[in-house]
Amino acid sequence: MRVPIIAGNWKMNKTVSEAVEFVNYIKNELPDPSEREIVLAAPTLSLTSMVQAAKDTPLKIAAENCYCRIAGAYTGETSPRSLSLAGIHHVILGHSERRRLFNETDELINQKVQVALRNGLCPIVCCDDTMGRRIAGKKVRWVVSRILADLKGLSPADVTKVTMAFEPSWAIGTGQSADPEQAAEGCYLIRQTIRDMYGEDIGNAVRILYGGSVNETNIKALMAYDDIDGVLVGGASLDPDRFLKLVNS
Ligand code: 13P
Repeated sequence: MRVPIIAGNWKMNKTVSEAVEFVNYIKNELPDPSEREIVLAAPTLSLTSMVQAAKDTPLKIAAENCYCRIAGAYTGETSPRSLSLAGIHHVILGHSERRRLFNETDELINQKVQVALRNGLCPIVCCDDTMGRRIAGKKVRWVVSRILADLKGLSPADVTKVTMAFEPSWAIGTGQSADPEQAAEGCYLIRQTIRDMYGEDIGNAVRILYGGSVNETNIKALMAYDDIDGVLVGGASLDPDRFLKLVNS
């Protein structure tokens, strides 16, 4: 049984006080963690205050990025070890915005995934899909090569701690979600690749989310598919009432 995950990705939004106010607003309205895991990914500066505000509640706080080293001369970077010791559970890695705007490669993402796992963080690894690739019929090859590269060298035990997210670039922030069938197809491709790499049991255990213009209206239809174990939500996670609707839908 894979426990569904509803995760918000705030991106570079909200001040520290807004973030804490949000956590205080939602924290007593969350479902039982055995039914649904609720995660909020926020800008680094807000994380420790959010962990404090979420103490003794089922809400898990996530980072939106980290570096592939735990200490040293890396000006401006965030250590996965420090995040973990500060009570952060997850870290989003390989988001298409980081790949596109900050030139992150599969090789770097793979290093980050390995170091995050070694330091007790559970990576949420994103895999995108462009309209160009879809039209050219290259999606299968693309998804497979990306998963092979991002998960390279991980042990089976490590892979079960990873959550994958299928996020087509054309659906992110556009208000045009993939239709549930397309979203499920992408998640299925990811699962099938993991099955091929690690076997049936591990492929069946890994949770795979869909992200891209998820909202209160389309979440049910998306989550009705077996291969979609949850959602990674940007814009609609910024308002606490909307987020609660998603979480309790
Ligand atoms: P939107 O929900 O705003 O489309 O963003 C999706 C996303 O990038 C989540 O990581």
